[in-house]
Amino acid sequence: MLLDDLKQLKESCWKNPNYMDFNTAAEACELGFADIIDASNRLKRFAAYFKVAFPETAAADGIVESPFREIPHMKEAMEREYGVALNGRLYLKMDSHLPISGSIKARGGVYEVLKFAEDIAIKSGMLNIDDDYSILAEERFSKLFSQYAIAVGSTGNLGLSIGIMSAKLGFKVTVHMSADARQWKKDMLRSKGVCVMEYESDYSEAVRQGRIAAESDPMCHFIDDENSRTLFLGYSVAALRLKKQLDDLKITVDSQHPLLVYLPCGVGGGPGGVAFGLKQVFKDDVHCFFAEPTNACCMILGMSTGKHSDISVQDIGIDGRTVADGLAVGRASGFVGRLMEPFISGCYTISDVRMHRLLATLADTENIYLEPSALAGMYGAVLAKSNGEFAEYGKLENCTHIVWATGGGMVPENEMRKYYLAGK
Ligand SMILES: *Cc1c(COP(=O)(O)O)cnc(C)c1O
Repeated sequence: MLLDDLKQLKESCWKNPNYMDFNTAAEACELGFADIIDASNRLKRFAAYFKVAFPETAAADGIVESPFREIPHMKEAMEREYGVALNGRLYLKMDSHLPISGSIKARGGVYEVLKFAEDIAIKSGMLNIDDDYSILAEERFSKLFSQYAIAVGSTGNLGLSIGIMSAKLGFKVTVHMSADARQWKKDMLRSKGVCVMEYESDYSEAVRQGRIAAESDPMCHFIDDENSRTLFLGYSVAALRLKKQLDDLKITVDSQHPLLVYLPCGVGGGPGGVAFGLKQVFKDDVHCFFAEPTNACCMILGMSTGKHSDISVQDIGIDGRTVADGLAVGRASGFVGRLMEPFISGCYTISDVRMHRLLATLADTENIYLEPSALAGMYGAVLAKSNGEFAEYGKLENCTHIVWATGGGMVPENEMRKYYLAGK
């Protein structure tokens, strides 16, 4: 039984019995395509500001987007290692190399800060929606934003994104970090003027502490990773961007050329938002899978039991500890689990050892260095071919596998070396 396997930390697959055809699922959903367009338009308004505030985004006209590339040598290496022949081609969506914070959190986290700033600036009368948003880099705006505070609970990467973005705009920002957050992330944030609070507990507790601290301050906006629609929609814009990258490479997507997308999942907002966007764009021609560490398998647990956020991995005797920082979450977002119930094709778990090994293999074959979390998705392509439960997905000769590489771009070299050596 799945639950027993999860308890015993066995790598597991779960095919979603509640999956529906897109139109039926979309009809009943509280969010839709128009919401993604709204978020996309907001990011376009901010592009002029990004060009000034983060010059590294100027080459892409102020649009924060990541590379998309084929990884054929990795495909060969996995075929050899696991003794399978994968159909189709294997691609990497490199959110690991997103500007600002080097992880998928540069989508949702940054977006929610921008929306908060835009609302304040418009309400103050200092900004009009048709203005050139580069004016937001002027001192009068940082003065305005300095009256407001932003708080967030994080295992690391969300804190980095929100901390960096908020501090740049001029907000007072506090990041409540769980025990497993890396020292270098805390150091980097402090160097940018971010207040970092440290807790001995896990992610859920850091979020709870952050929420309590924020509630006592009426000028403070708490970014709620577990429930925020704004964060979720910020992530979903990735789908529009990916569509363009696929078009540019002339990659066909239809029923005979399906997309299979493997997304590392922590609390669920990032992968959920991206998957939601992909379903809106590609409908029944895309199949999305959440990938989690065996020791922090909160989403597969919540979805397969139907209990969503009413059950934690600790409830079944698992500690939630993993080398995969961004995925060290014991309780999934109930909002994301419920919303994604008819859209997601399946979930699977992967061991820390396998993530490390895939990390080293990717480095050796493609010279791409990612953090362990980002490798959780890599194994999906193998499962789509070799695992009975997922076998129907990888059977078409012309499928396109997309591994969503969620982080790693800002990991210091000495830390990356340790990851790599562990993998070897
Ligand atoms: C946060 C994170 C994820 C997962 O995002 P959630 O919204 O927590 O599900 C995956 N990979 C990395 C590297 C992350 O930082």
